[in-house]
Amino acid sequence: MNTAFDLSGKVALVTGSNTGLGAGMAHALAAVGCDIVGVSRSDDSDTAHRVQALGRRYVGVSADLAETACVNDIVRAALEACGRLDVLVNNAGIIRRADALAFSVDDWDAVMNVNLKSAFFLAQAAARHFVERQQRGKIINIASMLSFQGGIRVASYTAAKSGIVGLTRLLANEWAARGINVNAIAPGYMATSNTAALREDEQRNGEILARIPAGRWGTPDDLAGPAVFLASAASDYVHGHTLAVDGGWLAR
Ligand code: NAP
Repeated sequence: MNTAFDLSGKVALVTGSNTGLGAGMAHALAAVGCDIVGVSRSDDSDTAHRVQALGRRYVGVSADLAETACVNDIVRAALEACGRLDVLVNNAGIIRRADALAFSVDDWDAVMNVNLKSAFFLAQAAARHFVERQQRGKIINIASMLSFQGGIRVASYTAAKSGIVGLTRLLANEWAARGINVNAIAPGYMATSNTAALREDEQRNGEILARIPAGRWGTPDDLAGPAVFLASAASDYVHGHTLAVDGGWLAR
């Protein structure tokens, strides 16, 4: 059974690989044999060192996913460097907070462009490659609790993350028969720089912890098993699913 999770010789493209959940998933995929192509705008040397320490290759691609123009170049760079592509993890994301009455077009577009638009067009670029090579492919989109709940003061984030779940289903419907698995992971409240302000706010931190059945914030390591599962042959018949990894948050 262990071989179903073995990704030796495969290549995974992970966006937002320099930090947080993306760095955790890059490390997890490398640990089961993947070489990693990481996309971010910042210094990704920490992730590179962690992946290389596992004996795998790390290829860093600097790109700004606020613009979709880079998506074909990203896939091309992965193929040039590694010769193949098997897994895409659409993880890069941002959040902007403001009351809905005051929400700006800039805060809407910035979040939608990175969290939804680029995710779709990167999935399209990867899937075109999978279809052209007539190979299996795995696409993992990163959703959120706000794919299921409304949230407050995060209009564009909720719209984008709700959209990611719909898109995951649509792409699964179109591509499952071609041997491409499109699924999503919906992390709960995870301790990354994205949520540092929430954790520093004593009252909000207490309220959040009180609602998590597991009684703690998640960590990037908590996504390791789910990411490996959805990237591996173990999930070959799983299509269009969004897997909550939330310490039980949605069960409340
Ligand atoms: P994070 O620590 O803030 O990391 C975000 C990542 O996205 C960084 O690697 C960042 O790279 C990349 N990124 C942002 N804008 C980009 C752009 N324009 N072009 C290229 N890369 C860009 O966030 P995280 O907590 O790890 O979150 C990762 C994903 O999980 C996001 O989609 C987030 O919405 C989702 N999520 C997080 C939580 C949580 O509790 N933390 C919960 C649910 C869902 P740069 O540093 O180079 O900009």
